[in-house]
Order: sequence, then C-alpha cells, then structure tokens
Amino acid sequence: MAMADMREPIESGCPDGFQYMHPAMRKNFGMWSYHEDPQPGVLKHVSKTGDTIYTVKVGTQRILDLFTLRKLTSIADEFADGYVRFTIRSNIEYYVTDEAKVQPLIAAIEKEGFVVGGTRNSVAMISHTQGWLHCDIPGTDASGVVKSMMDELIDEFKQWNMPNRVHMTTSCCQINCGGQGDIAINIQHTKPPKISHDLVANVCERPTVVARCPVAAIRPAIVNGKPSLEVDEKKCICCGACFPPCPPMQINDPEHSKLAIWVGGNHSNARSKPSFQKLVAAGIPNNPPRWPEATGIVKRILKEYKDGAKDWERINDWIDRIGWPRFFEVTGLPFTKYHIDNWRGARNSLNASTHIRF
Ligand code: SF4
Ligand code: SF4
Repeated sequence: MAMADMREPIESGCPDGFQYMHPAMRKNFGMWSYHEDPQPGVLKHVSKTGDTIYTVKVGTQRILDLFTLRKLTSIADEFADGYVRFTIRSNIEYYVTDEAKVQPLIAAIEKEGFVVGGTRNSVAMISHTQGWLHCDIPGTDASGVVKSMMDELIDEFKQWNMPNRVHMTTSCCQINCGGQGDIAINIQHTKPPKISHDLVANVCERPTVVARCPVAAIRPAIVNGKPSLEVDEKKCICCGACFPPCPPMQINDPEHSKLAIWVGGNHSNARSKPSFQKLVAAGIPNNPPRWPEATGIVKRILKEYKDGAKDWERINDWIDRIGWPRFFEVTGLPFTKYHIDNWRGARNSLNASTHIRF
C-alpha cells in the first residue's frame, strides 16, 4: 500500500493540552525561572523572558453541575484572561498576566461562594475518586466524604497554618485509587465476599477471577450442578479484588464495609525517602451523609501535627521524629494488635520498593 493511502491513526488519548493553555504559558513553556507565593491561593510565576503570570487556585466540590461550571467559566471570561484548568485535586485555576486583576478576580470568586486557597503549607483539597458516577465497585461515596471533611477544614484550606503542605486522599473501594497522601481515608471491607452461585456461570470468567486473588483464596467449584467459585475464608484478606471481574462476589456491605485512615505516605524524595502509609484507625463507620467519625479523627491528627511538627516537616517526617508510640499517645488513637502487619505473604507478592523490576 502506498504511504499516501494509509489512514491516520485514531488518537483516542486525551487531546494535546497546549491548545488550551494560556498564551503566556505557551510562550514561556520550559522557561520559567522561579515562583513566589504572594498570598494563600495565589502563585506568581516569573519567566526568564521577564513575563509574569498569576494563578489563583479555587476549591470546588468536584462533581459540578452545568450551572456551576458556567458560573466558574464566566468568572474566567469577565475577571481573568479566559483560561482555566482543573487540577487533580478538583481545584480550578484561573490565570492573569496583569497583577491589577488578581484582587478583583478573588473578590468575584468569593462573592459567588467559592474559596481561594490550597497552596503552600495549607491543607490542599482532598484528591478523590467518585466511583458511584463512573466506576463499578464503590463501597462508599468518596466525593461526599471529601465534601463533609473539607467543609470542616475550610480554614486550613484558606490559610497557611500547617507546618508543611498536607495532601489527603480518599477512595471508594479498597484496592485502586486514592492511597497517595499524607493522610488517606479508604474503604475497608471486613468480611469475605458473599457469592451468588446462580449468577457466577453467566457473568464471570472464572479463571480471571481466580487469578485476581492476591492470596490464592479462590477456587473453581461446582455448586448446585453449576460452575461457580468458592472462597477459603481463612485465607481471604477481604480486599475486594474479586468483585470487579465478578459482581456476584458481592463484598460491599452497609455494616461491614468500614472506613480506615492511613497516614505518613510520601511520594517525593525531596527531604526523606518515599514512604508507605501506615494504618492508624480502622473500623470507622461508613456513615453518610456527613461521616462525622472519620472527620473527627482526621481533625485530631491534623491538630496534633500542627501543634507538634517543626516547620517544613511533612506528616511522615513528624512521625519519624517523634516515633509511632508517641503518635498514638498524642492523637489518642488506640493502638491494637491489628495495627501490626504480620502478613508474611507480602514479601513474595507485593512490590515493596520504588525500584522498577523486570
Ligand atoms: S477507588 Fe475504587 S471504586 Fe472508587 S473510582 Fe477508584 S477503583 Fe472505582
Ligand atoms: S476479597 Fe480479595 S482476598 Fe478475598 S477472595 Fe476476593 S480477591 Fe481473594
């Protein structure tokens, strides 16, 4: 086939972001010299060419209706330069090159009830998933947890009160998104899945389901004359990994699916090595619509971190310095034998380092 006859490949990834960028960002791409933080929620970037751009960061509730989106974008048209960007933490960022536009922009944003903040040593917006909108396995409404918590942490979002930045995450299941932050609020299943044997043969690819289990607790079985699966409940760690490929293995439960809080995760290696999170509170009620128990524990941890950490210590640095016994003492969280990870299978089956393996 002649080259001229070949069709263009279909690009199904995300579109090229450059076309949506503010012209000053396109022009100065790769040439930014430094940035400053003039006030909470505002960044000033200065380029080697002498150009300056101001970013105003605004918290949103992530699940946005059309009217709110129109409101947010019309603020961009009227008070900023007409360009916005949504961040991974559900903030919307406005850009202006003229410093004189910054304060009128903030006033317009706040007049409509939105909050400016989330930069430097504040509590950034909680990054989260919204499983019940797009995913098939959620055990809670992560977005609702986030909204309830951020309503109570709004002052920490708007001000620079923390020793260093605090990144929090939530998840709506136990296995996939949302475990990367100084504090993570995750679903925790506490009972093995319940199998609807009548449905397994029609819905599930049994070898795929068997392969999904990290502890080899699932076996093929014939139940009531039909191909099905069985779970060795002594081995099962209630992770829920079998539920996505096989919905008849229902693990979500209004009573036994709880929330758990993990702390001390750190992706960066700027000041200390990257670190995994550690479980500090488990069995917290999954209690919509405001999840007061989980919010109370997060606030308690943040208060002690704020009072006890030195400037620039992230939560993991603070705990490394004071030690885990002291952490449980100051936060008043009970330390039980269940906090000790004694599952030896992890040595063989989990990737326990940041090194790439082949
Ligand atoms: S946390 Fe789990 S349920 Fe929620 S979106 Fe991610 S994979 Fe889906
Ligand atoms: S919940 Fe996890 S450990 Fe239990 S059977 Fe399913 S995949 Fe295996």
